[in-house]
Amino acid sequence: MVKHSSRIALSQSALQTNFNFIRKKTGQGVRISSVVKANAYGHGIAEFVPMAEKCGISHFSVASSFEAEEVLSVCSDKTSIMIMGILYEEDIPWAVENGIEFYVFNFERLLIAKEVAERLGKKAVVHIEVETGANRTGLQADDFKKTIEYLTENREYIQFEGLCTHLGGAETLANKFKIDAQVLRYNNFLETCREMNYMPRKRHIASSAAALAFEETRFDMVRIGVAQYGFWPSPDIRYLHLQETKKTTENGLKRIFTWKTDIMDLRKVKAGEYIGYGTAYQAVQDMDIAVLPLGYSNGYPRGLSNRGQVLIKGKKAPVVGLINMNLFMVNISHIPDVAVGDEVVLVGRQKNNVIPVSSFTDATQLLNNEMLSRLPAAIPRKAVT
Ligand SMILES: *Cc1c(COP(=O)(O)O)cnc(C)c1O
Repeated sequence: MVKHSSRIALSQSALQTNFNFIRKKTGQGVRISSVVKANAYGHGIAEFVPMAEKCGISHFSVASSFEAEEVLSVCSDKTSIMIMGILYEEDIPWAVENGIEFYVFNFERLLIAKEVAERLGKKAVVHIEVETGANRTGLQADDFKKTIEYLTENREYIQFEGLCTHLGGAETLANKFKIDAQVLRYNNFLETCREMNYMPRKRHIASSAAALAFEETRFDMVRIGVAQYGFWPSPDIRYLHLQETKKTTENGLKRIFTWKTDIMDLRKVKAGEYIGYGTAYQAVQDMDIAVLPLGYSNGYPRGLSNRGQVLIKGKKAPVVGLINMNLFMVNISHIPDVAVGDEVVLVGRQKNNVIPVSSFTDATQLLNNEMLSRLPAAIPRKAVT
């Protein structure tokens, strides 16, 4: 196989650190579902899932049946997979056949699940998602009693695996009033289950932010995405943690991925010349330039034109000119002895310098999640210690 223009390394020890930190926060008895939608937030499902399993994770959440299929192809037999989003009706038999758990957010879907389960002679494992205030997907309160009745009557076909909801914006403390209202409504649904004497096996509503910060949202399981990859869900949540631990700097979460490429070519540019397309960058003095073999089609955001930085020989080299579709240039005038083939760090550490993901997001207005999830699946990922 030929060499790709960049590569991503994933640190097993950093991942372990993150799960240790999250487990310490959420406490014993709370199961972690590792959220690996969007190709594991760009980390790569195929590489990330086995790494998480090594850390004791045995439950994964995805947004679609398409992603579930990918997890299924790499996970161990004992691992559970849960689809939180799109599962087309025609794929429900596939999900039931493979024991894949899925969200049900309207009554009609329950009828189909039962029919499929009966036909295949295998239970459908469902999580009833209820509407509590995020107003995306979720069963409305009006349909709830009917749903629990149906689940009770059809327990031989449908396993009431979970009762869940999604909190809309637990990352921001200013939204806490909204989260509180959602938690209250969720508890009302639970109360109805109790009254009707049929409880779900797992209650779960928290994603990273709520799981790290708000105890009353943890219940039996938390759905952890961004935090497991080593990112704080928001400055607010990090602040709450520091306040709780009475520390000023502790991080506890470590970025697990490093993204590297290497130098494709070197050139000298005379003062007054323009670099790359158009007139975006004009050399004000004679410069030494390195050409790198990737661009916006390879996940390096175009918004970093004239703004980004990479590491070469442990020193920061600023992007000069526009990020092209599959090339960009950096200024190396201040770095001696640079050669073609030298390692270039796009995200991560090299000697005493670091390029964090946040440096991308600061410059481009991209969300951390957005930047990561856009990393093309074609970039090779590799687990390292
Ligand atoms: C993406 C997602 C999560 C994980 O969110 P993070 O903030 O990344 O932890 C949890 N639940 C649902 C329904 C999601 O879509």
